Amino acid sequence: MRLTILGSTAGAPSRSNPASGYLVQHGDVSIWMDAGTGTFMELAELVDPGTLDAVVISHTHVDHCSDLFGLYGYLAFGPSGDVPVKVFVPEGAADHLAAFARATAEHIFNMVLDVLEVTPGDSVMVGDVGISFGEAIHPVPALVTRIEAGGASLVYSGDTGPGGDLMEMATGADVLLCEASLDGIRNERTYPYHLTAIEAGETAAWGGVNRLIVTHIGALMDPQQSLDEAAGAFAGRVGYAARGAVFEIDGRSDGANG
Ligand SMILES: [Zn+2]
Ligand SMILES: [Zn+2]
Repeated sequence: MRLTILGSTAGAPSRSNPASGYLVQHGDVSIWMDAGTGTFMELAELVDPGTLDAVVISHTHVDHCSDLFGLYGYLAFGPSGDVPVKVFVPEGAADHLAAFARATAEHIFNMVLDVLEVTPGDSVMVGDVGISFGEAIHPVPALVTRIEAGGASLVYSGDTGPGGDLMEMATGADVLLCEASLDGIRNERTYPYHLTAIEAGETAAWGGVNRLIVTHIGALMDPQQSLDEAAGAFAGRVGYAARGAVFEIDGRSDGANG
């Protein structure tokens, strides 16, 4: 399984790094995981968007979903592709996304995209890739995603505060791609719906993962500080989700080169 970072900036794209988006590939299966602002063009550099097997949207904050409308335009108005493309979204997101496109049931939006709501505990298969979903702690319904293929496992936090299903789902994962939106040590005034880099490290340690990749770091933050804080809580390998980085995930002997 291959993970390519399309973008990883929190909240908004920066001039050099789109918002959150990842391409997960296994064999001939391609899955676009979060469609943050700026990631559609990054995706299109790597694969024909018309050949995507599925899209996973962790939640409907714009830094995770806005470029779904780029895919919609590509499929609806050309060059098009193998439609409909399945789009897995959290509870309530199907109507929310369709409303932006003013899409009725017969609208072309619903001809080219098959938007399917999933809830924590659900699992789906996309080709020979298994995807399971858990609860993230966020102001809107949000998902933690675990992807398993060829004996390798990748867990993506989406946006989440402490709690929910992240720790349980991360257990034993080869790679934990974890948000680290906040720096420093949590106190009573710390925002409850994101994680600190230290908490990302603690989650990796608790789950016994092979490798931690910190992501969703704001444009005004220093990723090196986030790396250092996460590494202080996790003795394993820690990387940063830099735009364009590629991680080969191959079970317990992953040869990640990012
Ligand atoms: Zn976000
Ligand atoms: Zn969010």
